[in-house]
Amino acid sequence: MKTNIKQILGFSEFDREITVKGWVRTRRGSSNVSFVALNDGSTIKNLQIVIENDNFDVNIIKAITTGACIAVEGTLVKSQGSGQTCEVLAKKIEILGESDADKYPIQPKAHTMEYLRENAHLRPRTNTFSAVFRVRHALAFAIHKYFNDNGFFYWHSPIITASDAEGAGQMFHVSTLNPTNPPKNEDGAINYKEDFFGAETSLTVSGQLEGELGAMALGLIYTFGPTFRAENSNTARHLAEFWMIEPEMAFYDIQDNMDLVENFLKYVIHYALENCPDDLEFLDKRFAEEEKKKKQEERSEMGLLEKLNFIVSNQFERLTYTEAIEILLNSSHHKKKKFEFEVKWGIDLQSEHERYLVEKHFKKPVILTNYPKAIKAFYMKQNEGEEVGKETVRAMDVLFPGIGEIVGGSQREENYDKLMSRINEVGIDPENLWWYLDTRKFGTCPHSGFGLGFERLMLFVTGMGNIRDVIPFPRTPQNAKF
Ligand code: ATP
Ligand code: MN
Repeated sequence: MKTNIKQILGFSEFDREITVKGWVRTRRGSSNVSFVALNDGSTIKNLQIVIENDNFDVNIIKAITTGACIAVEGTLVKSQGSGQTCEVLAKKIEILGESDADKYPIQPKAHTMEYLRENAHLRPRTNTFSAVFRVRHALAFAIHKYFNDNGFFYWHSPIITASDAEGAGQMFHVSTLNPTNPPKNEDGAINYKEDFFGAETSLTVSGQLEGELGAMALGLIYTFGPTFRAENSNTARHLAEFWMIEPEMAFYDIQDNMDLVENFLKYVIHYALENCPDDLEFLDKRFAEEEKKKKQEERSEMGLLEKLNFIVSNQFERLTYTEAIEILLNSSHHKKKKFEFEVKWGIDLQSEHERYLVEKHFKKPVILTNYPKAIKAFYMKQNEGEEVGKETVRAMDVLFPGIGEIVGGSQREENYDKLMSRINEVGIDPENLWWYLDTRKFGTCPHSGFGLGFERLMLFVTGMGNIRDVIPFPRTPQNAKF
């Protein structure tokens, strides 16, 4: 029976026969005996295989090179060497796949992240990336578990959409028309009536609007799917294709929304701590090494594990946008003119402002609420009785150390007339949103929701520095390889 290395390393009975299959990380030793570090992806830990060279065909021994895939039958024994508790004395070895060790792109040495991105097809075989992707799985699972255990239904909003309400210009078009010779209307514009869907369609930038439709029937729903944004921002925090988690909750106000997001984030981070101890320990060491390379003032004050434990056990700071602006204006950082972008009421907070609040001022996660209406989406609930020009909406952004915005959410405007007037104000054609508006006509209710970028969460939990390194095959401007 084939056992995986994670199981094998947990065995307490030795002198048993086992079969193990995996990829060779390294081989060292003498002419008499070889020590092979074998990894099968089930854990970051390698299993040591001890091979008496004379017992095997010389061609087999030669083929055991870095990157090769082998199957080994042998006896599991207590290890005599240090560094591992058990090892396998090989009796039978089969070479499943040879690897030309000189040409194998993943050499047993440190490679740069840029180099590994160029070799994204093989980088999951490194310690760092296998750890990252196991954590990715655990977090995805934890997200489903959290919602399932709390009465939410997994709701599939569409990936192809004809609504361009959210942010036209940042969308990827979906079309089967001939790009060099599309059918045209009399005015020269492309005639999308002849396109596949009979309308102009794009890849979704958010599943929220359709998510709200689910919440208005099932009560509590969440989406967890791919999201696409054609924004040309080449940053370490933006992907063109990323995964988003978007719960929508009927009968939740903004306070309930904040309680949920805090509880949820703590739960999934705690889940990773409980279920990925080896991987996180490895990533913690890696994070410490990376931090050492940074300038003193840019270094994180906490280690990775320390940060994760801190989040789980401390309350998030909650304050309004207006209070945050006050703090920024009164900061010595501002007085010394150290912010690149202007600080004043009404601005869309820049990453430097968000990070100042989280990393320097509060030193913990922050939930900011009540943003100026003018900088937020049309569907956010408007606060009442405010001074003209100072109107705010019940938005909430969750800001995390090292990341900035990790969640954007709000209470939704459930009042038909108010929503309509906002739609007209921002110049959206209500015809496109008739179905969304219908929920406000037929049995509307207070409701809320938020969007969490899965890869932003991944950045935080793994301590990786670039969003391209927490998804197997990143899509960014000028890059859709693999
Ligand atoms: P940002 O200001 O950081 O670009 P946003 O305001 O555009 O974020 P929202 O539209 O509120 O973000 O999207 C919800 C969440 O999706 C964000 O809080 C973030 O976690 C994530 N997100 C947004 N854009 C991207 C992207 N291009 N790549 C990865 N995650 C993203
Ligand atoms: Mn954005």
